[in-house]
Amino acid sequence: MSGGVRIGIAGAGLGGVAAAGLLEKAGFDVVLFDQAPAFSRLGAGIQFGPNVLKILATLDGLDKKLEKISCLPDYWVSRKWDDGTVMAKIPLNAERERYGAPYITIHRGDLHQAMLDCVSPERVKWGHKLVDFIDDGQGVTLNFENGASEKVDILIGADGINSRVREKIFGLDEAVYTGWIAHRAIIPGAAAKSLGADLNAKWWSADRHIVCYYLDKNEDEFYLVTGEPAEWTSRAGQLPSSREALREAFKGFHPMVQGYIDATDVVTKWHLKTRAPLPVWYQGRSVLLGDACHPMKPHMAQGAAMAVEDAAVLARCLAELGTKDLERTFRSYHEARKERATKVQSISNANTWLRQPEDPYWCYGDNIYDLTIE
Ligand code: FAD
Repeated sequence: MSGGVRIGIAGAGLGGVAAAGLLEKAGFDVVLFDQAPAFSRLGAGIQFGPNVLKILATLDGLDKKLEKISCLPDYWVSRKWDDGTVMAKIPLNAERERYGAPYITIHRGDLHQAMLDCVSPERVKWGHKLVDFIDDGQGVTLNFENGASEKVDILIGADGINSRVREKIFGLDEAVYTGWIAHRAIIPGAAAKSLGADLNAKWWSADRHIVCYYLDKNEDEFYLVTGEPAEWTSRAGQLPSSREALREAFKGFHPMVQGYIDATDVVTKWHLKTRAPLPVWYQGRSVLLGDACHPMKPHMAQGAAMAVEDAAVLARCLAELGTKDLERTFRSYHEARKERATKVQSISNANTWLRQPEDPYWCYGDNIYDLTIE
């Protein structure tokens, strides 16, 4: 029974917002807290596969709304860095019927806004940074940096790689720098088109890559995101970079890639961090999802997808198994998720996904609503 159970979610990223929408729909009294002062159209590009779109379809047809505004690539193309040889051409929307839903590429801010629109606005509290919480066995008292305090029955930690909820449960443990960074830039779609861009491609050399795709239905914006080994000494997670730095990192790459780089204006760089898999994702009345429990390098484009899948499985477990025996409900959630999330985490960290021809059906064809929850 969901009626009357109050669930607090720390973190209104893609995982937390998905959890809020799905739990509200299931009848729970949800409240979503985020440290950010307000929503902003942050980030750049994101890819969401059919495995996620099947979940978003349950949020008032969000899949259809996203399909109207996003780019729908028929194929994923892996190209050799210097001469552009196609190493793999993997069907995405070309096999949409088989996967059971579309594959989209979109601006992360537009996706985030569309997902937030599925949550009642009065349930979202910005400017609430969770600093501490006390689980007294009957409920959880949440304490925020702004001095506010709230009582909930259950706490979901969807607060990302540096999760305060994870830290409180499992202790302070710094995320590990992978030795890799990601440069990110958006160029005009017309510039990419004039160079003959694929809708969705990854150019691979032995030790680095650049992923390139459109961010919208009209192909107005084209996104570049790299993976490259580099030193990182700053405490900041992202820093300004430059076209020249991109040129230097990708010298010798194919003229099409050089053309993309020539068209960049604002270039940023991000450090990529990860953690070893956690043995358990819950304690007492608190439970984790997404990057809070299984952060990964972004090289499979499935990190946020796993956060949304976690949210959907957790929502099912809470609705179908109930909240009287939370140990059982959370154990079922973890049992249902740990193998898949850990597999994706390890492939993503290894950066091997779709480099060579392979069938991605086990990932994209998956439907969490086919799972037996027990
Ligand atoms: P986050 O997105 O990190 O959200 C956490 C939220 O919690 C934030 O809003 C933060 O403000 C809030 N928060 C943190 N601490 C507190 C606190 N104490 N109190 C309150 N709020 C707090 N994934 C894909 O699926 N597809 C892709 O194409 C893709 N591309 C990527 C490209 C790059 C370069 C990178 C770096 C990642 C990419 N990912 C992709 C991975 C994806 O970004 C993450 O896995 C995903 O954002 C995790 O979602 P989350 O909701 O768990 O955490």
